[in-house]
Amino acid sequence: MKNDECIICNTKTMPYFNKERYNIPNAEELTRELVPVEFHRCPCCGFVISKTHQNLTAAQWGEINSDFHHDNENNDRKNLGFNQPPFVEQAFMIELLARNNLIDDSAILDYASGYGRLSHILKKYYGREIKCYDKYIKSLEQHYIDDLKAGSWSLVINSAMFEHILTRRDLDAVNELIAHSGALFVHTVIVEEVPQDPNWFYLDIPVHTAVHTNKSMSLLMEQWGFNSSIYSPKSKSWVLLRQNYEDIKPIVESINRELQTSWLWGKQGFMDYWKTC
Ligand SMILES: [Zn+2]
Repeated sequence: MKNDECIICNTKTMPYFNKERYNIPNAEELTRELVPVEFHRCPCCGFVISKTHQNLTAAQWGEINSDFHHDNENNDRKNLGFNQPPFVEQAFMIELLARNNLIDDSAILDYASGYGRLSHILKKYYGREIKCYDKYIKSLEQHYIDDLKAGSWSLVINSAMFEHILTRRDLDAVNELIAHSGALFVHTVIVEEVPQDPNWFYLDIPVHTAVHTNKSMSLLMEQWGFNSSIYSPKSKSWVLLRQNYEDIKPIVESINRELQTSWLWGKQGFMDYWKTC
C-alpha cells in the first residue's frame, strides 16, 4: 500500500490541514520536533490520519509516547478522570452483553489494557476474570499474558487505541485475535465528519494520530466480517457483532425496557450514533 492511500479503503488521501501548534500544557517542549503536523483526509470514507506521525521512525514515535505519558503522570491534573475511558460503565456494558447472551464471555481479552483498570473493576465488583495484554506496560499481576494466540478470543476489548494507530497492520493485529464467532468491543471517538480545524480538541493530543468516521468504521467492520453493532452513550463504547441485528433486536429492546432507559443503541452495520461533533 502506498503511503498516500487510505488505510481503510485504499482511496488516495488529500491534505486536510496542518497543525502548527498544540494547546495542551507543556506543548512547546513536548512537540517541538513534531510540528507542523500534516493531517490527510480520505475523500471516500472521511478517515483522517497524520502523515507526519506515519513518517516518524519507530524510535521517534516511541519517544513522543513516553514523553507525553511521563508528562501526563507527573502533571498533577486537578481532574482525576482526565481523558480516561468510562471504565465503570464499560464494565457494566460487558456484564449486560454477557448475561443476556449477546456475546460469548468464555475468553475475554483486554488488548492494550494499560494498567488493567477495567479488569480490576470487573474482578472486584462483578467477580469476572478477564485477561490483559499491553505491549508497553508489563505488570506482575497474574492476569497479564504474553501469548496472544490469534483467533482464540470470544471478546476482544480495545479501549482508546484506535486513535493511536499509524498503519493498517495496527488495526488488523486487533482483529486477528478474535475468534470467527467472536466480538470486538471498541472505545474511541467516531464522528460523521472530522472538523477541518487544527484546534479541534481530539487532535490536540500529540499521540492522537487518527480519527475514524461512521463510514470508515462501517467499511472496516464489513471487511472484518461483522454484521451488526451496538453502542452505549453511557460507556462511550461499541460492540461489533457477527449476528444480524434482526436476530438480537428483541434482546436489546428488552434490556432497555428492563433498565428503563435507552442504554443500548443497535443496528445492522455500524451504529452511527454521533452525527455531529
Ligand atoms: Zn478511506
